[in-house]
Amino acid sequence: MRNKLDWRRGVVTSAEQISDDVRSLDFAVEGPLPRFDPGSHSNFRVSLGDGEAIRTYSCLPAAPGHLRVAVKQHDNSRGGSRFMWGLNPGDALSLTVPENRFELAWRAPYYLLMAGGIGITPIFGMALALQQRGIAFRLVYGGRRRGVMAFAEDLERQLGDQVDICAGDAGERIDVAAEIAALPADGQLYVCGPIGMLNAVKTAWQAAGRPMGRLRYEVFGDSGLFAEANFSVDVQGLDRAVQVRPDQTLLEALLGAGVDMVYDCQRGECGLCAVDIISHDGPIDHRDVFFSEAEKAEGRRMCACVSRLASGNAVIDVGYRG
Ligand SMILES: Cc1cc2nc3c(=O)[nH]c(=O)nc-3n(C[C@H](O)[C@H](O)[C@H](O)COP(=O)(O)OP(=O)(O)OC[C@H]3O[C@@H](n4cnc5c(N)ncnc54)[C@H](O)[C@@H]3O)c2cc1C
Repeated sequence: MRNKLDWRRGVVTSAEQISDDVRSLDFAVEGPLPRFDPGSHSNFRVSLGDGEAIRTYSCLPAAPGHLRVAVKQHDNSRGGSRFMWGLNPGDALSLTVPENRFELAWRAPYYLLMAGGIGITPIFGMALALQQRGIAFRLVYGGRRRGVMAFAEDLERQLGDQVDICAGDAGERIDVAAEIAALPADGQLYVCGPIGMLNAVKTAWQAAGRPMGRLRYEVFGDSGLFAEANFSVDVQGLDRAVQVRPDQTLLEALLGAGVDMVYDCQRGECGLCAVDIISHDGPIDHRDVFFSEAEKAEGRRMCACVSRLASGNAVIDVGYRG
């Protein structure tokens, strides 16, 4: 039940490591490629050794007919980023024409852009586009250490004092509340980074009394509060437990067990795959940005595409009646 994707063949034209753990890849795409805006992403068919999977990457500014992405290497992963890192010029794979769910609304008079770690990828193109059009903005970019912060030098060179780089190893940290306080009342905030950063930004934004409609964010759905472990769910209407492995999402396990599910974004934003939690005996690792902090604390619903239990069992209702 996903939107129809336009799959194409892409051939790697260049591959280059641009920080300690980020590699940039440029693809020549077969067939006419429509112009795409900053914030767009493409899907890539990756090989995980025991099968294929789809991974999504934000599209960086690129030459006409080309797609460029920057991929962070995840050491403890199912292998999508490792596959992308293994690509070299001449290698081909399937990718989709970019789509955009993190679009800049060009109406605001001032923009605050905030990025954490690899979350810089959609924000990078936004900053350059705003600069080209002469629209006022400020970019704050935080990372664990300078060596892993892709594009830091490029941004400093191109944006001058419009960018503030906060490297953890230099003792620097984004002061989220102060950044929001300095944003003009009609300004908009665009943020992309790990779930902890997004939660902090949402809380500070609300505390400052700012309208939620002026906060736009994207998450990559690849970070949580607990390490992935086995857990199980009893689905009402299905008289057996569904086991969820550490390398599976709850959504994948439910679909694999033949449970009809409605879903779309698969990154915890749209809420279509949300399930009701009747009871649970292990902690819930809420990884979505769809539910509010208050709803997450209640523990009555979770997004099956990204959220999971840290361990144990839950009884859930997905509306499935066999
Ligand atoms: C819109 C969008 C844009 C993105 N843009 C970029 C980008 O520009 N650059 C980039 O590097 N990445 C981007 N991503 C993330 C990317 O799609 C992959 O998630 C990432 O490369 C990790 O894939 P992987 O297979 O290596 O790791 P995964 O196996 O997906 O693991 C990644 C992390 O998720 C956790 N994890 C492991 N297993 C599971 C599981 N079963 N369920 C849930 N979590 C698990 C682990 O903590 C691990 O460190 C984007 C994602 C989205 C949705």
